[in-house]
Amino acid sequence: MGRRTLSGLSGPWREFSLIAALQRRFASAGPGDCLGLGDDAAAYRPRRGRLELVTCDALVENIHWKSRWCGPRALGIRAAAVNLSDIAAMGGEPERGFLILALPRASTQAFAWEIAAGVASELRRFRARLAGGDTVASAGPVMVALALQGTVPGRQLLTRSGARPGDRILVTGFLGDAAAGRRVLDAPARAWPGKKYLRGRFLRPQPRIRAARVLAQSGWVSAMLDLSDGLAGDLRRLAQASGVGARVEGGRLPISAPARVLAQRLRVPAEDLALRGGEDYELLFTAPARRIRELQSLLARRARIRATEVGEILPLAAGLCLRTADGRRRPWPQGWEHHGA
Ligand code: ADP
Ligand code: MG
Repeated sequence: MGRRTLSGLSGPWREFSLIAALQRRFASAGPGDCLGLGDDAAAYRPRRGRLELVTCDALVENIHWKSRWCGPRALGIRAAAVNLSDIAAMGGEPERGFLILALPRASTQAFAWEIAAGVASELRRFRARLAGGDTVASAGPVMVALALQGTVPGRQLLTRSGARPGDRILVTGFLGDAAAGRRVLDAPARAWPGKKYLRGRFLRPQPRIRAARVLAQSGWVSAMLDLSDGLAGDLRRLAQASGVGARVEGGRLPISAPARVLAQRLRVPAEDLALRGGEDYELLFTAPARRIRELQSLLARRARIRATEVGEILPLAAGLCLRTADGRRRPWPQGWEHHGA
């Protein structure tokens, strides 16, 4: 099935046979699905008592990725993962994806298939379906744009705006790995320690859907977002949306051993990678101090993920501040901007 059902893989891409192959390989109906991929529009029945979530992201060649970094399968997986992460950030469950591919005429059918199959398989890992899209020619670079619809039980929606002074600030997983991984990809010939791990952390972010559901169900989380631009920039957004200040303890940032070693070799502070490096797609959330331990143990038990307390929400007038491991205060670092985003 799949690739083998596509004829002329090395020839130019053709929309109809791509769609037919996607239907054969990934046709599946989930709860509420009436019409999936193949008609003029998808049709589904909204789930009672739930809010609809819709998000989209576009990846453009040479802006968001370089073709030498990864093949088309990994690109598709990554496009799905960054969208899934946005649904996670709202506390939701992903349901249906809509994929727009813009491809140069010279791209092969295999290339188109691998991107679409990467998207569809990553969606499937989280019980979401590819429910439609469009495939068009591009006179310039490759573009992969995905829209993703999901739902969240009405009362469990998590936004950026609920943080209150005294709440603690937590993050899942490690910070700075993806930024380290991008440096590895830019210098592939160098023998980095932990090279494979770091590269994987950039190319294959793990959407924290499960962890986010645990957090949303707990009812204790006051604000949440996913870390796409680095803690410094994203915590600023959360603070602005909530009308609060915040203090982060630099010494508490969860940094993996490979990221530390890489930072040392590059002679950049590991803290900078963690604060300013983007694209980790971990969750940043706040909750009252008395709930932290239980949330951490829930996440460990039910989502197999560690959450680290990195700071505290302060009143608005306190602004944003960073305290280094040796107790000094540092100005708030500038967030890192995506390539062109
Ligand atoms: P139309 O011309 O009516 O927009 P298309 O021929 O472009 O329809 O697409 C036919 C079907 O294939 C539609 O259901 C559309 O959603 C789906 N489709 C087209 N391209 C993609 C793609 N890249 N990924 C997923 N579904 C696609
Ligand atoms: Mg079309």
